[in-house]
Amino acid sequence: MTTFKSLGLNTELLSAVEKLGFEAPTEVQEKVIPLLLEKSTDLVALAQTGTGKTAAFGFPMLQKIDPNKRVTQGLILSPTRELCLQITNEIGLYGEKLRNINIVAIYGGANITEQAKKIKRGAQIVVATPGRLKDMIRRKLVDISAIEYCVLDEADEMLNMGFYEDIKSILTHTPKDKSSWLFSATMPKEVSTIAKKFMHDPIEITVGTKNSGAKNVNHQYFIVGARERYNALKAVIGMNPAIFGCVFCRTKIETQKVAEKLIHDGYKAAAIHGDLSQNQRDAVMQSFRKKKIQLLIATDVAARGIDVDDITHVVNYQLPDEIETYTHRSGRTGRAGKLGTSVLFVTKSDRRKIKLIENKLQTKLTELEIPKPEEVFQFKMTHWVEQIKTTPIKSDLHPYLSKVVQDLEGFSKEELIELFLSKEFQTFNFNAKPLEFTNESSSEGRPERTINASKDKDRFFINVGARDQYDWQNLKDFLRSFLKLDQDDVFQVEVMKNFSFFSTHNKHRDLVLKSFQDLVLDERKVNVELTKKGKTYSPKKQFSKGKNKRKSRF
Ligand code: AMP
Repeated sequence: MTTFKSLGLNTELLSAVEKLGFEAPTEVQEKVIPLLLEKSTDLVALAQTGTGKTAAFGFPMLQKIDPNKRVTQGLILSPTRELCLQITNEIGLYGEKLRNINIVAIYGGANITEQAKKIKRGAQIVVATPGRLKDMIRRKLVDISAIEYCVLDEADEMLNMGFYEDIKSILTHTPKDKSSWLFSATMPKEVSTIAKKFMHDPIEITVGTKNSGAKNVNHQYFIVGARERYNALKAVIGMNPAIFGCVFCRTKIETQKVAEKLIHDGYKAAAIHGDLSQNQRDAVMQSFRKKKIQLLIATDVAARGIDVDDITHVVNYQLPDEIETYTHRSGRTGRAGKLGTSVLFVTKSDRRKIKLIENKLQTKLTELEIPKPEEVFQFKMTHWVEQIKTTPIKSDLHPYLSKVVQDLEGFSKEELIELFLSKEFQTFNFNAKPLEFTNESSSEGRPERTINASKDKDRFFINVGARDQYDWQNLKDFLRSFLKLDQDDVFQVEVMKNFSFFSTHNKHRDLVLKSFQDLVLDERKVNVELTKKGKTYSPKKQFSKGKNKRKSRF
């Protein structure tokens, strides 16, 4: 077995490897690390996210730069703020044992002066998104004229996002004799153009098959009617109770609609799309990463840079237009040596596209039938039993045990199990047709009104959540009484750890925004924002500041 030591890493980096618990190098690391350590070469590496590529370029860069020089020696360009922060964090961990190494992230949507200050203190490695970096170069807040190593990470994504001109301009500020390392999941024409134009005889490395989905992803598809997607999704969730998944939709409206339906049906789901502000997107992503959310419903654009390990399933609610997009979507699962599943819902007329995907990916997609209610039940029951068997005993309950044992004395073990089972699966509908059985509601007891993503509805973000002792019921009660609205006027209340969402009819918009203006609760400014069609209105922007700060407890 190849070891990290045999790849040529120094003792400091090896001790970080040990601390991180990496047992053996991944394929891309095995191919790339020795090459970059030994040679000053340009490199084009075709590798998906999740293959360990950050370490593949991160370790050689850390080992090669001189920590005694404060000048910026390594530059890593990445498509999104999310990914930029992740790379900075990962490389920070890899270089933890190296002294005097500063790694600074620069990205849009955050305070530029703060970032400039950090650079000024000396950053040997800068991880940047192209737009912000270009801006900072123009303002002379960063100097990349002496870099020795330049990484273009997720090059295909950067070009997809229209960063070609920015990248071109950035590269003109770098020395000609630097080493450039380009990483990309796919190799469209635009990426080869960049490689030809800006690199000198790059060595090309491919991990897995060129342009293919990750090897450890199992691709499955269901033939569904156009209106059956939602029930098919619930069937997939039903068959995989421990699912931690990302569902891709084509439009923002669809994304929101699917998330709302899932929330209404009692799942921990949230939507991420371009109508959310950056802060809201960060908050949703954080909840997803911490597994407070089980299902993330995303548009392709919003999902760029989603780099979350352990995603068990990617669901293609609709087929994407481009096969390359399918590669990106399915690359979100099956990461770091784990197995993942990519599920596609296709209508009969789209069936031929399956062949195209198979040809492109050089992989067979398995057709599955929507499971029958009995099969779903079997799965749910097995999962339930497993959960019971592994539930930690809550010792606080001991004093009450004997009373319950006494109350249930007359029942046999079988009778008790039957009772518990019946209680748990009371609403399960065994007679439904395959695509209808999912109507069984796991949201029993939630009197929330279902409404469609209608144009009359406003959805608000509020910066209080479960850590403030809220659940959807008491937050709804608070909002109703605070806003003096009726029971049905506040709906679809969705509580996360640090923040929540709720909806009202849009005739209440001004009332909601005005009421929360300058509201301070427990020493904290409550922030309510409206998300609508790409704009975020906040009370601050809409209304003048009130003088009297209201105080209230909830
Ligand atoms: P990346 O492709 O760089 O985004 O890496 C995906 C994940 O794999 C990250 O969470 C890394 O910490 C992890 N990882 C990287 N290299 C290894 C390795 N050799 N063994 C186990 N996990 C790894």
